[in-house]
Amino acid sequence: MLTPDGGLTLEPDQTESVPRDECGVFGVWAPDEDVAQLTYYGLFALQHRGQESAGMAVSSGQRIMVFKDMGLVAQVFDESTLKSLPGQMAIGHTRYSTGGSSTWNNAQPTFRSFEDGTGLALAHNGNLTNTGELEAWLHERAPETKVHSKRGAMDSTSDTALISALMVSYGDRPIEEVTLEVLPRLKGAFSLVFMNERTLYAARDPQGVRPLVLGRLHQGWVVASETAALDIVGASFVREIEPGEFIAIDEAGLRSQRFAESRPKGCIFEYVYLARPDTTIAGRSVHTTRVEIGRQLAREHPVEADLVIPTPDSGTPSAIGYALESGIEFGLGLVKNAYVGRTFIQPSNTIRQLGIRLKLNPLREVIDGKRLVVVDDSIVRGNTQRALVRMLREAGASQVHVRISSPPVEWPCFYGIDFATRAELIAPGLTVDDICRSIGADSLGFVSLEGLTEATTVPAERLCRACFDGQYPISIPPEQAKLLGIQTEEDL
Ligand code: SF4
Repeated sequence: MLTPDGGLTLEPDQTESVPRDECGVFGVWAPDEDVAQLTYYGLFALQHRGQESAGMAVSSGQRIMVFKDMGLVAQVFDESTLKSLPGQMAIGHTRYSTGGSSTWNNAQPTFRSFEDGTGLALAHNGNLTNTGELEAWLHERAPETKVHSKRGAMDSTSDTALISALMVSYGDRPIEEVTLEVLPRLKGAFSLVFMNERTLYAARDPQGVRPLVLGRLHQGWVVASETAALDIVGASFVREIEPGEFIAIDEAGLRSQRFAESRPKGCIFEYVYLARPDTTIAGRSVHTTRVEIGRQLAREHPVEADLVIPTPDSGTPSAIGYALESGIEFGLGLVKNAYVGRTFIQPSNTIRQLGIRLKLNPLREVIDGKRLVVVDDSIVRGNTQRALVRMLREAGASQVHVRISSPPVEWPCFYGIDFATRAELIAPGLTVDDICRSIGADSLGFVSLEGLTEATTVPAERLCRACFDGQYPISIPPEQAKLLGIQTEEDL
C-alpha cells in the first residue's frame, strides 16, 4: 500500500515474503576432529551474522543429533552440551530475525526424516522469493506435508523447512540426485549447508548473492559463510563455492556438480556492512575495500574539519580511508560497548532507540570544541545518526559532518537482509539535504554507487545493488514487484 509520504507498506500477508534473515552457516567434515567444538568456534566467528538463535546438527555416521536454542552462540552451547555431541561431521547456523519470527521453532538447522529413518539436517543463509510456487509444488508431491510455523503462516525459516520438505518428498532416492532436481527450482538467495548421516553438502544460488567458502583442514573440509570462520578453526581457504555449484564431501572425497549456470550477483552490502573486515571476498579483504570506500568518500565529499571519527566498529576502516585521503587527523571519539548487539538488527524500534545510548558513549576530551567528520557505514532508518549527532553536540563538538560509506538505501531487500518496508527507510522521497536536516548534521555526504562499486573492484554487472538502485537481479514475488512498480532482470 502507498503511504501519504510516498512510502510503501506491505499488508501483513505480503510481509511474509519480505526477508527477515541475515544468517551465518558453517559445516565441517572431519572424522578425526571434535566437530562439535569446531562448529562452535565457526559459529562464534559468524556471530555478527545472526544473534538471535544458534544451532548445530552433528552426525556420528549412524545418527544425527540437533541442538539449537535462542540466544548467542556462547549462551546456547556449553562444554557439556558440546561433549554430548560426538561425531564425524556437523553443520551449524547463527540466525537473525525480526521480532515476529524470533522463536525456537525457527532456529536452525532444520531436521527431517526420510521414510527409511535416515535424516536430513539443513541450514540456510538467504531468502527464497518463490515460496508460493514451491509450496504448490510440494503440495503436488506430498499433499500431507506441513511446513507452516505454529503461527499458521509461512515465515522466513519456513523457506528453509520447505527446501528440506521438498528433498524428503523424493523418498529414498539418493540425495545428490534429489538435490539436482530441487535446487534449480529455487529462486532467491541461498547459501546452504546440509547433511545426512554420511555426507556433508553445500550449495550456493546461481547468483551467489550470499557468500559461501570452502576450506581445508589437515584431514577434513570446512564450508562457511565467511573466510574469517575458516581462520578461526585453523582451516586454509581453498576457494569460494561457485554460484550454481553443489558439493558433496564424504569418505570418497569432495565431488562438485553444477545445478545451474553461474550468473554472479554478489550482494554489495556485504562489503559495506555485513561481512567481517577480516573476511576476504573476491580475493581482497573487506577491510581494504572499506578503507578504499572511505578514500572515495573523501574525494567525493570533502569538508574542512579538525578530526575524523568513526562510528565504531563498522565505520572504522572507511574513517581511516577518509582521514588518509583528506589529511585530516583520525581519532576515536566514541567508545562502543562491545556487548550490545548491532543496533540495526534489534527487533523493535523502542529497543533500537535505547540500543544507541547503550552502545555508544562520546569521549568528551577528544571531541570538545572540534569540527568533526563522523563516518558511518549506512543510514537505514536514520535513528542511529540522529541520536549520534545530538550526543556529539552535547559532548561539545562545534560542527558535525556526517559521511556515509554507502549510498542511500532506497529499496527493500528481498534476498535476505531486513531493510523492512520502503516506508521504514529514511531515504525514499527525501533529498540528501532533507536527510541532513532530519538527523541534525551540519553537512551530509553519501558515497556514490559508482564510487562504492569501484572500491569493491568487482564489475557492476557482477553485483546486486538493488537496495540502492532498485535493479533487482532475481525474481521477487509478483505482488511485490507490482507494488514497487518494478521488473526484475530475471523476469525481463
Ligand atoms: S538488495 Fe541490497 S542488501 Fe539485498 S542482496 Fe541486493 S545489495 Fe544486498
